[in-house]
Amino acid sequence: METKAQEKFSFQAEINQLLDILVHSLYSSREIFLRELISNASDALDKLRILSLRGEEYAQKDLPLEIKISFDKDAKMLVITDTGIGMTKEELIKNIGTIAKSGSSEFIKAIKAGDADAKEIIGRFGVGFYSVFMVAEEVKIKTRSYIPSEQGYIWKSTGKGDFTITEVVDEVNRGTSIEIYLKEDADEYADKQKLEGIIKKHSGFISYPIYLAAEKVNTITALWKEPKSNIKPEQYNEFYKFVSHGFTDPECHIHLSVDAPIQFNALLFIPKQNYDFFGMNRDNYGLDLYVRKVLIQHQSKDLLPEFLSFVKGVVDSEDLPLNVSRETLQENAIFGKIAKEVTKAVLKDLNNRAKNDPEQYKRIYEQHGKYIKLGFNDQNNREQYLELLRFESLNNEAGKMISLTDYKESLKAEQKEFYYALGNSRESLAADPAVEIFKKKGLDVLFLYDPVDEYALSMIGKYGDYDLVSVEKADISKLDSFVDVKNKESELPKLNKSDEKLLTELAGKMKEILGDKVKEVKISNRLSEHAVWLTTENEMYSSSFRRMMKGAGPMFEGFGGEKALEINKNNPVIRNLLIIYRGDKNSPVIPRVVNLLYLSAELGSGDLKDPFVLVKELNSVLDTFTRSYTIIK
Ligand code: ADP
Repeated sequence: METKAQEKFSFQAEINQLLDILVHSLYSSREIFLRELISNASDALDKLRILSLRGEEYAQKDLPLEIKISFDKDAKMLVITDTGIGMTKEELIKNIGTIAKSGSSEFIKAIKAGDADAKEIIGRFGVGFYSVFMVAEEVKIKTRSYIPSEQGYIWKSTGKGDFTITEVVDEVNRGTSIEIYLKEDADEYADKQKLEGIIKKHSGFISYPIYLAAEKVNTITALWKEPKSNIKPEQYNEFYKFVSHGFTDPECHIHLSVDAPIQFNALLFIPKQNYDFFGMNRDNYGLDLYVRKVLIQHQSKDLLPEFLSFVKGVVDSEDLPLNVSRETLQENAIFGKIAKEVTKAVLKDLNNRAKNDPEQYKRIYEQHGKYIKLGFNDQNNREQYLELLRFESLNNEAGKMISLTDYKESLKAEQKEFYYALGNSRESLAADPAVEIFKKKGLDVLFLYDPVDEYALSMIGKYGDYDLVSVEKADISKLDSFVDVKNKESELPKLNKSDEKLLTELAGKMKEILGDKVKEVKISNRLSEHAVWLTTENEMYSSSFRRMMKGAGPMFEGFGGEKALEINKNNPVIRNLLIIYRGDKNSPVIPRVVNLLYLSAELGSGDLKDPFVLVKELNSVLDTFTRSYTIIK
């Protein structure tokens, strides 16, 4: 083959790092290189088919759309050829080697963070090509773009630091050929049986013929078109691995065959695990859209609302035109109807699972709940969405997740509101002063551990006729009519009239001591355990929400509304303080205790600005406390 002068390029540092990781962490599953290359070939063929459907010009129209694999045992080499869109010189440089696509750095991050198994995620991050260097000593890519005026090019590399590109003078076929010169210890891949086994295992669902030494090895089936009764569970699992580019089975599948109001088939999966590493792999979602078994859009983002983006799979309709473009799809009325029906079906399926197999739904919610929750602004699917939410609650044991309907069923007669509390854990919520009165009244409270939950519930606002209310914002007077269910055994004796009066006076004194820090100090009608509690008026979100969202932006920060300190007359510290006050209204102990109580309330509400002031006060109290012991000794 006649070529022009060769040009040399360096891999970007990240690519070198990536190659290093692949070779070391994927060694035991080296065979996946073949799956990755065949999948790239299939993508290139899909792209060509889509542009031809749209009537674009392309070179060598008579070439069949197919993948060919040949090998030479003696020469220890292997060639994978496709007749897809091929690459221009610029695309070769950009796609394979220099510009680190965002995928590679994200992949490296995920692996380094120890979050994932390289094998499980390699296909999901757009770095699959490089896996060829696990078996290759040298790789040559011979390619020619579909654009009729383009030349052929040869890209060559040993995967160590650099690669070269050479323009070919002779005619090269459209598409791409990957020539792999196998490493000493990888010659097993130049073997028919071995190759056939790998192709059948990982690439069985590729929709173009794959020829291995002139013999077709894949059986082309659009599994979603088959009657359900014909499909074995393993086939569903294999198909899921194919569409997800992964190696684990799905949690479950949803196979739909719908004729009215619109015809479509869909084969959808709920993954066992979520692979969105803190949003790094965020755009990697969407269902593949087929028209009569022909892929017309990969990862369509418009078939399901974003809060269901964890669902993977394919949708195929006979009713859409084949030449519909991505731009016109969104305005296509049939597409809109399909999207609506697919969404309806997925929501129904999830709700059925939740009802019939709560354990499974719990697993799904644990993995994908962070997406599901985000459906709060989807007006079209509001009711179904609300049924999907799950929470722990005060009156249910740890680990039990209840729905809003379950909560409704546990309402006390006359209860007109749903209550929720946000906190770091069940333990911290159980000790939250805002929850005390609900415990006392036996009312259930939804426990939220994620600020998104509070945000979602505050946006939803209502469930049927019931208002969703944060315990901190609840109007306590509405709870008066509920009888106390909880009587503390260690109840202190009731205060007499004159002590009640004295307590009001003490509250005034406390306000004096605290000055502008609080608007008022009042005797609480809701605390039964904690000594004091700081309430803030006119805040949109709870104090826990503001604490957890600190630093997330001004819209979530407090307005610094006016604060009131509530005191609990049935708490021993307050009682002791009253005794001290009765004895000596100007006792120096009072301001110290009041300041410390205030600081501890600030700590609890997340408003503590200067921790060291609290630490200093606390130390001085500890000093007194420990000293009392030394005296006894
Ligand atoms: P991914 O395929 O997931 O994007 P890869 O590292 O496997 O990641 O491939 C990088 C890019 O190289 C592809 O996105 C594609 O643009 C290009 N490419 C790889 N193989 C082929 C091929 N056989 N034909 C055309 N382009 C290809």
